[in-house]
Amino acid sequence: MGSSSLMWFRKGLRLHDNPALEHAAKGTDFVYPVFVIDPHYMDPDPAAFSPGSARAGVNRIRFLLESLSDLDSNLRKLGSRLLILKGEPGEVLVRCLEQWDIKKLCFEYDTDPYYQALDARVQKYVSSMGIEVYSPVSHTLFDPRAIIEKNGGKPPLTYQSFVKLAGQPSWASSPVSTGLSSIPPLGDVGAVHISSVPTIEELGYENIGQIVLQHEFSPFKGGESEALKRLERSCDDKGWVAKFEKPKGDPSSFEKPATTVLSPYLKVSDMLTIASASVCLFVLTDYATSKEVCSVAQTFSLYLNFQIYIVLCLRSLVVYLSVYRNVKHHTSPPVSLLGQLLWRDFFYTAAFGTPNFDKMKGNRICKQIPWDDNSELLAAWRDGRTGYPWIDAIMVQAVSESYESNHMSCSFINGAGCTILLGIVLPVSLLVFIHWEKGRDVFERLLIDSDWAINNGNWLWLSCSSFFYDYNRIYSPISFGKKHDPNGNFIRHFLPVLKDIPKEYIYEPWTAPKSIQIKAKCIIGKDYPSPVVAHDSASKECKKKLAEAYALNRKLNGAVNEDDLRNLK
Ligand code: FAD
Repeated sequence: MGSSSLMWFRKGLRLHDNPALEHAAKGTDFVYPVFVIDPHYMDPDPAAFSPGSARAGVNRIRFLLESLSDLDSNLRKLGSRLLILKGEPGEVLVRCLEQWDIKKLCFEYDTDPYYQALDARVQKYVSSMGIEVYSPVSHTLFDPRAIIEKNGGKPPLTYQSFVKLAGQPSWASSPVSTGLSSIPPLGDVGAVHISSVPTIEELGYENIGQIVLQHEFSPFKGGESEALKRLERSCDDKGWVAKFEKPKGDPSSFEKPATTVLSPYLKVSDMLTIASASVCLFVLTDYATSKEVCSVAQTFSLYLNFQIYIVLCLRSLVVYLSVYRNVKHHTSPPVSLLGQLLWRDFFYTAAFGTPNFDKMKGNRICKQIPWDDNSELLAAWRDGRTGYPWIDAIMVQAVSESYESNHMSCSFINGAGCTILLGIVLPVSLLVFIHWEKGRDVFERLLIDSDWAINNGNWLWLSCSSFFYDYNRIYSPISFGKKHDPNGNFIRHFLPVLKDIPKEYIYEPWTAPKSIQIKAKCIIGKDYPSPVVAHDSASKECKKKLAEAYALNRKLNGAVNEDDLRNLK
């Protein structure tokens, strides 16, 4: 038997730009490409508020399964296949390493605490066995460890300081590597139980056939192939790419989203290297002479020698190159597309360098605030029953499993629709004083791009617990939506019960006279809920409580304890 290596796939479910896979394939007779179905994330939880496991909604799981199928089919084109195993990943892996006599274990470095702990257990075993381990950083543009080290052991806590430390991303600093034309064949899988990619029903999820069926119409299908297509499509409009400026753009535009909708792919298929490659051209164009641009093109043309996966990327790049050569102006970070990717790295770095990043307690960068525990209000928000149509439509878009097919396409969107809308409107208006951890948990299950570092980071931000502290800046669930979508098309689409409410009442249907409600066949309080809180008084109360909590944090220099918080309530 020749030498064998094991490629342990976790998030980076892709063949292209995958340094761990490349290393696994180098100088090896057999490669075992493995994915472990982890009960921690995947086992059904009947007690959860919507179908899925305790941590992931059924759409997230479905998206993952689609990504696995795509990876499997891409591996098969190269004469291999994905080996699916089930169980506690550490134990499963050790069994495989022993049975297959593995000499080299390769996997993408992961900064999430769950994977840090898992990887430490695996590394301990592996080093006692003399197995080589290769675990490169390829999920982010920069290595969070290096940034933290540069900053004297602490993560930078402002975007500007992060960008300064990180420097300009470039072809050299982003983890772009080659693709693979072939990988060594599979060895004998012997006594280890292997399955092919399971269906969602085989995972134990019942009564969701309808959801899966409806989802077939969704544009957000998982997988590397889909990711590459999406990147190409999303960047097809050169003017749009050059002018991209967040948060400008219409957040209510559900048929043609105002952003790239690449985040689910960045999460699972890890499109980052390619996406970053494309937006890095913005940087290049700052000073690019045609000579420099050509040298980038030449670097990429090398990849042509490899295989099909990179070709799509190359094609996009060639298009971009010609665009950028002709573009006089383009936006810059933090608002540009490149700027968005830097936000991603910023949150990854902050999360990695901050113990208890996902909690208020014990988190040194998080303001201690005596949040309320109002499960009724939380459930009303989560289930789209607040009585504020703009908020409810957003939640229906994120949550709903009961739409007809064409609606489904937007129902399980990533953050794109939701984040601008929910993010800005929600924490300081309707969630009012509910703990950000509760909102975070809802997003974690529902969003298909759900990502530990980014989700926690954005909730910390939007609850004014960290990074951003202007708690007086409250967005209205009425006027914010109206500005972008005066006719309420977004609301009418996702809340058909309100479809005949006249334009002047669509954002505040409770103000419509009874006769109008009857004519629109929508009686407020019966067919659609009355508002669960009065926004004006709720937001005033929220500001007052936040001001008190901030004052206490200042006085005690952050060392606030539970008694202090109780006294504030
Ligand atoms: P684009 O605007 O096209 O940006 C391109 C890429 O930049 C995105 O795909 C994403 O990787 C990155 N990016 C953009 N905005 C942000 C941001 N605010 N923070 C970090 N990275 C960003 N994003 C997730 O990927 N997973 C999450 O779990 C998540 N939870 C969020 C929770 C809240 C409360 C809020 C307000 C935002 C959250 N975001 C999350 C961030 C962001 O809203 C989404 O990444 C973005 O909307 C995805 O849409 P897009 O791919 O079209 O983004």
